[in-house]
Parts: sequence; structure tokens; C-alpha cells
Amino acid sequence: MAEIGFIGLGNMGRPMASRLIAAGHAVRGFDVAPPAREAAGAVGIPLAADLGAAVDGAEAVFTMLPAGEDVRAVYCDAGGLLEAADPDTLLVDSSTIDLETARSVHKEASAGGFAMLDAPVSGGVGGAEAGTLTFMVGGGEEAVARGEPLMAAMGRNIVHAGGPGNGQAAKMCNNMVLGVSMIAVSEAFALAERVGLDAQTLFDIVSTASGQCWSLTSYCPVPGPVPSSPANRDYRAGFTAAMMLKDLRLARGAAQANGANAPLGSHAASLYEQYCADGEGGSDFSGIIRMLRSGG
Ligand code: NAD
Repeated sequence: MAEIGFIGLGNMGRPMASRLIAAGHAVRGFDVAPPAREAAGAVGIPLAADLGAAVDGAEAVFTMLPAGEDVRAVYCDAGGLLEAADPDTLLVDSSTIDLETARSVHKEASAGGFAMLDAPVSGGVGGAEAGTLTFMVGGGEEAVARGEPLMAAMGRNIVHAGGPGNGQAAKMCNNMVLGVSMIAVSEAFALAERVGLDAQTLFDIVSTASGQCWSLTSYCPVPGPVPSSPANRDYRAGFTAAMMLKDLRLARGAAQANGANAPLGSHAASLYEQYCADGEGGSDFSGIIRMLRSGG
């Protein structure tokens, strides 16, 4: 059993903290938003009055925050983690954030004598509730070894992607593939409809041919072929279009900053920008087929 501070008890952080408690760890949670605190208290997560109280004496602190600026503030502001926590504490940021911030916060943590991991996740709220998340982890071997048993309480796959920031790099590359492939699969179904090819027939062929991919076989954007996909429940998320847009923007930013050529990733970001501007940010990202069908 470990004493763990958990900062950010939103849609993901709340069920992740609950999994740690279910595995026998002593968790103290903190969130700046009163509704998040209330919801966490209601599911039995012990709450600390402030960040300092959440991390005091903790062996590890997890953060699950919206964006890079929040992570920087929680780590580096006066009274933040790097001041409030003991340097023996393992710091694990599981938020999805930009690579630059991830690497610069790693640097500051390391200068303060802390071991830190960037460990963003995939699997969404369902995976967090079921304890089946995938953690993509960046940081040193020793820190990974310390964090592994804790992440194992929340996830099924823990993959060490390399040094500081490489967890974020892996997540951003994966989600760029996902965004682009969802658009490609959606375009194929929209084209098939126009040329008189039945959706189930297209699915049966492509799912066993060279166009096979996760966006088709696990998350099919038309109702019918994959009964569990959001297309069968009017594109209720799932993984929201707004989240997909966030991740595609992170990839686009990293490509621009590092001189990588990613024209399809960048165009996918523009299409999701358009889809979200239509008021669809809260619907599932596979719902973009509706915009593509209608010509945008
Ligand atoms: P969320 O907005 O529901 O939760 C974030 C929480 O952080 C909020 O409750 C907010 O009040 C809290 N917070 C913000 N600033 C804080 C501060 N200074 N101190 C303490 N708490 C603070 O977001 P979420 O859906 O839980 O996502 C969290 C992270 O996980 C994001 O980076 C997101 O991209 C990533 N992610 C989300 C999903 C998903 O399906 N929701 C999937 C994979 C990854």
C-alpha cells in the first residue's frame, strides 16, 4: 500500500483515483473545482483541503489536468508540487499535454531532485472505470519501475516509450493516426453510399482487406457492422470530437515546432475544427462522417 496524492479529479482523474483506492492504496485527492470535489467525495475519494495537504508525505503524486498550462501551474507555481512535495516523491503526470511543456516541466522537476514520469493514457473514461487504460510512459528506467505497480492498478498496458516527454510523443502520434484513419474510413463509407455499395458489404470486404484498421473494425462510423460503436447510439461519446481536436492540435504544433511534415494530420485538425465549430465538440469523434457526407 502506498500513500498517493491525486490532483485533478475530473472525468478521468476520479475513476483513476477510485481504482487506486480499490487496489488498497491510501489516496488523498484535490481539485480546484467544487463540483469535481463533490463528485469525488460522493464516490468515496478522501479529499485534501489544498494541494499541499494532498501531497504531504505522499510516495507518489498523480496529476490528471486539462492542458499544459495547468500542469505547469500545478508543478511550478509558488506553492505548487515542486515546492510542496518532498523530493523523494515520484511525480506522474497523466494529462495529455504538449511536448514542449512536458519536457520543460521534467527538467524543472529533475533540477528539484524529483523523479518524474509523463504518462498519458488512452482508453477514455470507460477504460479508467474498468482499470484497463494504456499508459504511454516517458522518463528514466528507475522512475518507471517505481511507477509501474501504481499504474498497474489503473491500466492493463504500461509501455515505456523512452526518455522525458516520449509518453506524450507516443500518445500524440497514435491519436494523429486515429484522427486521420477515422476520416479516411468515413470518406470510404460516404463514397460507397454515393456509388451504391452497401455499408455492411464494404465493411465485410475492407475489414479483411488491406484497408483494415481500428477505426473500421472496432469503432465503425456507420451503424450496424460494429454494434458497440458510437454510431449505433447517435454518436454519443465515447471519445469526444473536442478531445480529438485537442490531440490533433498537439500533434500539429509538435510537427510545426520540429520541422516534421504531417499534411494529413494537419488537415485532420482543420476538419475537426470545422466539425467542432458546428457545435459537435461534445459528440463522438466518429460522428464527423455526418459532416463529410454532407460535403462540410
Ligand atoms: P476534466 O476537465 O474532466 O478534468 C480535469 C480536472 O482538473 C477538472 O476537474 C479541473 O477542475 C481540474 N483542475 C484544473 N486545474 C487544476 C488545478 N490547478 N489544481 C487542481 N485541479 C485542477 O478532464 P478529463 O476528461 O478528466 O481529462 C484529463 C486529462 O486526460 C486531459 O489532459 C485529457 O486530454 C486527458 N484524456 C482524457 C480522456 C477522456 O476521454 N476524457 C482520454 C484520454 C486522455
